[in-house]
Amino acid sequence: MPKSKTLRLGLDNFNLKSPLTMKQEQPFLPIAYFKNQFIPFENAKISVATHALHYGTAAFGGLRGICDPQNSTQVLLFRLERHCQRLSQSAKFLNYDIEPGKIQQIIVDFVQKNQPTESFYIRPLVYSSGLGIAPRLHGIEKDFLVYGLYMDNYLDGEVKCRFSSWYRQEDRSFPLRGKISGAYITSALAKTEAVESGFDEAILMNSQGKVCEATGMNIFMVRNGKLITPSVDQDILEGITRDSVLTIAKDLGLTPLERPIDKTELLIADEVFLCGTAAKIAPIKQIETYHLPEPKPITYELKSKLNEIVSNREPKYKDWVNVIPLS
Ligand code: PMP
Repeated sequence: MPKSKTLRLGLDNFNLKSPLTMKQEQPFLPIAYFKNQFIPFENAKISVATHALHYGTAAFGGLRGICDPQNSTQVLLFRLERHCQRLSQSAKFLNYDIEPGKIQQIIVDFVQKNQPTESFYIRPLVYSSGLGIAPRLHGIEKDFLVYGLYMDNYLDGEVKCRFSSWYRQEDRSFPLRGKISGAYITSALAKTEAVESGFDEAILMNSQGKVCEATGMNIFMVRNGKLITPSVDQDILEGITRDSVLTIAKDLGLTPLERPIDKTELLIADEVFLCGTAAKIAPIKQIETYHLPEPKPITYELKSKLNEIVSNREPKYKDWVNVIPLS
């Protein structure tokens, strides 16, 4: 298969606005925040000896931004405060104190300096920036960086999933409430296994054999009109989209349930969908050889409601949307 420019950049999951014209149009936003200053993205480089590169001692966030459909002089960020809080909490697991307010201010400045013109994704990262051998968290320099890229849809249409042969880590051996970089080897293994065997995405079980989440998304199912998702004690990442979906579902009168889910429940569910910042809500059409029924009314109702909220068209949820003026 000829390697496209998108694949060469390792961005094959991302449905970039103009993947075929990437030579002329870099998908990365032009300015990065690196070593306490804003500099051109291409100059933001780390040493080969960076501790985080070797030991996964980093944690990241991921937020979406869109140009305000009602006002082209501003950009909308979804749940900025919650994202900054989670990153600050993740940093604590790395022995690094960084206030959510500081992260938030840098992200706002980052957006204003970049003046994005299309939907984009912001990737803040806290990491062990010191150079050194030996895995540890103490006595090693930490740093914070931000870069961004233009991004449209992460997963297009309805997706085909398989159960991964890899299991999600356990909270007793890994701080699962942080978005710790090292954990993503499991996601990477599961995603590649799924794609190379003809699926779009993987569903991972936890060590108890209960349904956990996908490689970068939480999971929901609908059975007999009830919306159900694994509870926070099931080794999931506490996704911000998951939290948003639960709130929206309650407001729609759906009385969502958070509880362990068995594998076979998914196979006979009426609807199953994944959710996350990059994917938003991705309906599942097939799990292994099981085809999920059509239509999927609850999934699509939640999906369209979330889209309305993200684009600031729902006054009730205005607190979730940060409006960033570009001038
Ligand atoms: N689980 C994992 C493992 C993830 O990486 C993500 C993406 N951050 C999610 C779930 C969904 O989280 P969120 O809705 O906060 O993006």
